[in-house]
Amino acid sequence: MANLGKPPDFDVVVIGAGFAGLGMLRRLREENGMSVQVYETGDGVGGTWYWNRYPGARCDSESYVYCFTFSKELLQDWDWSGKYPEQPEILSYLNHVADRFDLRRNIQFNTRVTSARFLEDTSLWEIETDQGDRVTAQFLITGIGCISSGNVPDIKGLDSFQGEWYHTGSWPHEKVDFAGKRVAVIGTGSSGIQSIPVIAEQAEHLSVFQRTPQYTVPARHGTVDRKFIEEKIKPNYEEVLEKARWSVGGFPIDRDERSALEVTAEERLEAYEAGWAEGGIRFLGASFKDISVDRRANDTMSEFIRNKIREMVSDPETVEKLLPTDHPFGSKRPLIDTNYFDTYNRENVELIDIRHSPIQEITPNGIRTEDEEYEFDMIVFATGFDAMTGTYFKMDIRGRNDLSLKEKWSEGPKTYLGLQTVGFPNMFMITGPGSPSVLSNMPVSIEQHIDWIADLLQFMRDGDIKSVEADENAETAWVAHVNEVAEPTMYMLADSWYLGANIPGKPRVFMPYVGGVGNYRKKCNEIADNGYEGFILDAGRR
Ligand code: NAP
Repeated sequence: MANLGKPPDFDVVVIGAGFAGLGMLRRLREENGMSVQVYETGDGVGGTWYWNRYPGARCDSESYVYCFTFSKELLQDWDWSGKYPEQPEILSYLNHVADRFDLRRNIQFNTRVTSARFLEDTSLWEIETDQGDRVTAQFLITGIGCISSGNVPDIKGLDSFQGEWYHTGSWPHEKVDFAGKRVAVIGTGSSGIQSIPVIAEQAEHLSVFQRTPQYTVPARHGTVDRKFIEEKIKPNYEEVLEKARWSVGGFPIDRDERSALEVTAEERLEAYEAGWAEGGIRFLGASFKDISVDRRANDTMSEFIRNKIREMVSDPETVEKLLPTDHPFGSKRPLIDTNYFDTYNRENVELIDIRHSPIQEITPNGIRTEDEEYEFDMIVFATGFDAMTGTYFKMDIRGRNDLSLKEKWSEGPKTYLGLQTVGFPNMFMITGPGSPSVLSNMPVSIEQHIDWIADLLQFMRDGDIKSVEADENAETAWVAHVNEVAEPTMYMLADSWYLGANIPGKPRVFMPYVGGVGNYRKKCNEIADNGYEGFILDAGRR
């Protein structure tokens, strides 16, 4: 009770200084006039792009839409050099934003939030860090990323390995030298398929340990098309961005509104070839409307990609191992690569199928599978993340009645709109589970949440409202809706991290919202227009 009446140390504590944290800080400080403290584990800004420095790391969103949009000047001034932004350039961009908008003065680096507790008598959050901070704030906002808690599988013997080993999601800041080394890469998701071709060019020998064969589409990466940017994008930026904001996936592209099954086989092939030639998101995003919901439609695209693999890889045995047949295209995160399949035509690269001969242990000298022992100087784990919930559970977050978030979400995350969870008043999640988040171009979804949260905080301040909490019925209905829209999609037909299937023991629940960023934005706007329907606004506390 000692805190009653005492103002909090900050209006808002934000966790994380990636896209989400930086944007939230700027918006609340500059436009809402609030006091904000950001805590960041790393020694610099960047979030995902600070940690994921592995060779070949770049974003799958085309660069002109992978950015903040709050500043017209920033949009006009910044020039990306590549069609897709590369990790070092995204990191430079985020550092530029931090400097240009003077954000660093409210960020405490090298500081991990260890716990956050809701104090019921005052409706404040008390936040503690590993640096000994203990502060209070009216609001707690997480900008901790959806894919930020690295997963190094629990393989017997890793401690005994005498070479070097790395996880792609916490790559060293110093250059890792592959020259003359025998390297193993375990994992063929986005991080694996980006790093494998680059490592293959540098290492003496590369062995790729593949559990699930993947569909992947050529990125057609290259330098940015300056004429396109100067003539089509920069003069029309607002229009381009509006299109992205109201689209399905956060990209300003038009989908083919025909069914893949209503056109002739020749027309279909022509459309797929055109998408393949353009590459990247344009292959899937601009394709027929029913690829992600109709298995027969999907089969046509899946088979098209399998045929491309047959054409690209010369060794028939390797082709067989690479062909994805156990899940439809798009049921796992679609992959976008540069020279991935070509890499298997190199003399110094071999593919090891660990679906049929699983890894038994890591030995002092390498990796032993059921069939064979291999020797390595270096192992790269491209084995993914405990996505969407893992980073939350690394902190001890406790709401009303001392309820821990980990306990509340023990059967899978439950949220209202992916923004709040019942029992945790005044806490917001930027791109939390139950929002489009990882199924979209992230900055579009991040900025939508930033603006929506900031508008609500302003509404509360104007109305002298002290606390806000999602209503139980609204949350239950939203969770049911998230499941209902996911159910008929291809997403339910693979063991993916979207379903938590990559982490032993994790509940199998589809975590992001598949209804599309435009529909979701509309829903959020309507809820706000109706006086924040489904949220309990309380003027009484504090
Ligand atoms: P991921 O997609 O989860 O892939 C992990 C890989 O490791 C999979 O091939 C998986 O096999 C394998 N694996 C996991 N545990 C294993 C084990 N115990 N033994 C053997 N193999 C194992 O992880 P990621 O590649 O880091 O990507 C995660 C997400 O981050 C992506 O889906 C994407 O959203 C994002 N990302 C984006 C970009 C980009 O924009 N370009 C780049 C990197 C990451 P299974 O398939 O059998 O599970």
